[in-house]
Amino acid sequence: MKTNEYMEQSEQYVLHTYNRFPVVLEHGDGVYLYDTDDRQYLDFAAGIAVYALGYNYPGFNEALENQIHKVIHTSNLFYNVPMTEAAKKVVEASGMDKVFFTNSGTEAIEGAIKTARKYAYIRDGKADHEIIAMNHSFHGRSVGALSVTGNPHYQEAFKPLMGGVKFADFNDLDSVKAQITDKTCAIILETVQGEGGIYPADPKFLQGIREICDEKDILMILDEIQCGMGRTGSLYAWQGYGVQPDIMTTAKALGCGVPVGAFILNKKVAEHSLVPGDHGTTYGGNPLACAAVSKVMDLFAENKIVEHVQEITPYFEAKLDELVEQYDCFAARRGKGLMQGLVVTGRPVGEIVKAAIREGLLVISAGSDVLRLVPPLIIEEKHIDEMVEKLKKAIG
Ligand SMILES: *Cc1c(COP(=O)(O)O)cnc(C)c1O
Repeated sequence: MKTNEYMEQSEQYVLHTYNRFPVVLEHGDGVYLYDTDDRQYLDFAAGIAVYALGYNYPGFNEALENQIHKVIHTSNLFYNVPMTEAAKKVVEASGMDKVFFTNSGTEAIEGAIKTARKYAYIRDGKADHEIIAMNHSFHGRSVGALSVTGNPHYQEAFKPLMGGVKFADFNDLDSVKAQITDKTCAIILETVQGEGGIYPADPKFLQGIREICDEKDILMILDEIQCGMGRTGSLYAWQGYGVQPDIMTTAKALGCGVPVGAFILNKKVAEHSLVPGDHGTTYGGNPLACAAVSKVMDLFAENKIVEHVQEITPYFEAKLDELVEQYDCFAARRGKGLMQGLVVTGRPVGEIVKAAIREGLLVISAGSDVLRLVPPLIIEEKHIDEMVEKLKKAIG
């Protein structure tokens, strides 16, 4: 089939919930993707911060193939080998206690919400607890996750949503304090806000939340679905702040393209929350997905991926800062590590994204006016140079 035919057939049969770019991606290699017309794209989107290791990373596909020939699925009624291995690796890397594997980010959030409510229910013997979430946050599209997503535009048509949610301003500790009541059971936030426009948490803000939570036995939930897995220069972004959550969620790069997520609990929460019968999923802990997680964790450690992010970040930031200096359409840079945003002024960010794609560069937007750069974590300086050249052409 020709490219146009794929696009037409997709529009005919796939529910129209995305306005897609007119590109049919067909295969990838390294940090490049190729479409059905064999055009090459430098990928600074990584499937929305998913493909941390790029395409065909040595050893990864082989690990998946190996598992496919053993068993793809077993159900949670039995133990399986990859889940056991993956669980040890993610729990030990986080210094936390127990993991529950999910199939997506939004499901990890659902699990985190249920866990927090159960913890408070056991403690108080009643069930009318509240959760504080942040304005401009993003936690997913299922109803629970949508309820803690601080974006009225996403929520409006789907009301009534889950009750007991209050919103505060990110990086404003007083506004969080103002929402706390005796019923507050959890505070949920992204360590670095992604969809909302790439806003890293201030260290003081995160530490302040930790202190309030400790003082009042409120659970701190950090959503690391986008900012986790090495992207900011530590395996989990909170590790770079010296603040540990009670519950964390992870997904996106966790399986480097294989759909998988997880919520991870510290000991206090693991021992006083979900028990058999409280939560479940048919696919969660699936051997194929967990073989991916297990291999990703190994490859990160063996090939020092997080250290590479630390090494390449200053160059990336310097090149982006040059763009901000040279071009009026970029007002500022925000971000941490390989999760960066350029604030666009004077023209729609979507126009720049489209022009970049025409130049063979995949970038995406965040919020209403931010150009988001979330490349595979394996990029080298020459890829950053190539990105800058292409972006200059796109805006020129
Ligand atoms: C993408 C994202 C989610 C939702 O994950 P899905 O896998 O799309 O359900 C939740 N939180 C954050 C911070 C995200 O970036």
